[in-house]
Amino acid sequence: RREEYAAIRDKKAETRDGTRVTLMVNAGLADDAAMLDASGAEGIGLFRTEFQFLVAATLPGRESQLKLYREVLDAAGDRPVVFRTLDIGGDKALPYLMDEKDEAENPAMGWRALRLSLDRAALMKAQARALVEAAGGRTLKVMFPMVSEPWEFEEARALFEEQVEWCHSRKRMLPTRIEYGCMLEVPSLAETLDILLPQLDFLSIGTNDLTQFLFAADRAEPRLAERYDWLSPAILRFLKRIADQANEAGVPVRICGEMGGRPLEAMALIGIGIENFSITPAAMGPIKAMVRSLDAEKVRKKMRKVLAKPPRDVRRSLTDWAKRQKV
Ligand code: PEP
Ligand code: MG
Repeated sequence: RREEYAAIRDKKAETRDGTRVTLMVNAGLADDAAMLDASGAEGIGLFRTEFQFLVAATLPGRESQLKLYREVLDAAGDRPVVFRTLDIGGDKALPYLMDEKDEAENPAMGWRALRLSLDRAALMKAQARALVEAAGGRTLKVMFPMVSEPWEFEEARALFEEQVEWCHSRKRMLPTRIEYGCMLEVPSLAETLDILLPQLDFLSIGTNDLTQFLFAADRAEPRLAERYDWLSPAILRFLKRIADQANEAGVPVRICGEMGGRPLEAMALIGIGIENFSITPAAMGPIKAMVRSLDAEKVRKKMRKVLAKPPRDVRRSLTDWAKRQKV
């Protein structure tokens, strides 16, 4: 299989009937960007900026953030990089940023990610400035984690725009274009997409957190790890509604959770209209091979049937179908 994956590394991720699928990778360190060539990915669909903070002993300053972001953009060259602003807090606690009083009983649902960033504006401003400066002369793509209501996105974007103004007034080189996106990983956001979508350049669905919140099931609890299936009607119907709305609004929608790195799951996602994936680099070969063996129109038809009247075991049904179709 390894040779098979190597052979298609530079080939397009396109289904048999011509649906173009975009495959990018998730990353978090400068080295990950250097691996882009080897993986054959089209870019970095999720750069987790908190990694730099998690491996540091003290708060990384604006200069060291700037240096990292520049390195990543340089390594990526013409390929797009989507930077996600800090997702710290909760279980990704930083000793130098939070103390015991910040410890919470339900950290995943706590003071984390954009919630923390908006409350600690100095922290977010430093990151915004570092990103804006690092992307001088090129496109900056940025997205915000754990957005629960549209106003949080609006506030975060305004904070970035202030930094752009600041850089402009100091005659710094500005990004040629800035694209703002949102992670959809808190279910409440799905109910206000009509308000949010017109403001977005792209939407990225984080199925790791989204699943934990939809099922009220801790993603780190091993006793629940096997209990709920990504291929359940609840998840798939939920994702289909989001995909339909985004596609209708002409806003690109991407999956950046682990779900997208599993061939059967990715097949189902293509069947509900999601054609952009950001996955773990190790999944590039298997996912591209699946895409190239797939007939997109047939899987769309199959998914319409499955979601209209779900069989008891969706996974079984899709596995059997994929075998018959030689996917
Ligand atoms: C997710 O929640 O699906 C996601 C991509 O973000 P993280 O795994 O970093 O929480
Ligand atoms: Mg998440």
